[in-house]
Amino acid sequence: MTNNRTIFKKIIDGEIPAKLVYDDEMCLAFHDVSPQAPVHVLLIPKKVIRNLDGLSADDRDLMGHMLSIVPLLAQKLGLSEGYRLVANCGANGGQSVDHLHFHILGGRQLNWPPG
Ligand code: AMP
Repeated sequence: MTNNRTIFKKIIDGEIPAKLVYDDEMCLAFHDVSPQAPVHVLLIPKKVIRNLDGLSADDRDLMGHMLSIVPLLAQKLGLSEGYRLVANCGANGGQSVDHLHFHILGGRQLNWPPG
């Protein structure tokens, strides 16, 4: 194993614990370790993709699948009043973990624009 595997890949591989919310053959959702809202869950593909810029046409089914999971997660997490889906991409986007992930944030009124 190389040591350039991200923390999220280690979660996928079961080497690092996470508070799982959802798990299927394509993706995984778990609570963010540093929540920025009462509900803060990360939805990640099991396929190693560094961020939105790493997507290709091969990933259409995967991305469609993951987006279709979002409302199910929102319901499971009790986000009936709404929520926000965020994907930080690259340095200016504020990405800190180089494995594609969607933040699902809710449980309070969220501000706009983001900082
Ligand atoms: P980003 O800044 O968009 O790359 O988001 C990375 C997110 O991963 C941050 O919100 C971190 O709090 C979160 N995070 C980092 N390590 C872990 C971990 N081991 N378990 C859960 N969330 C994590």
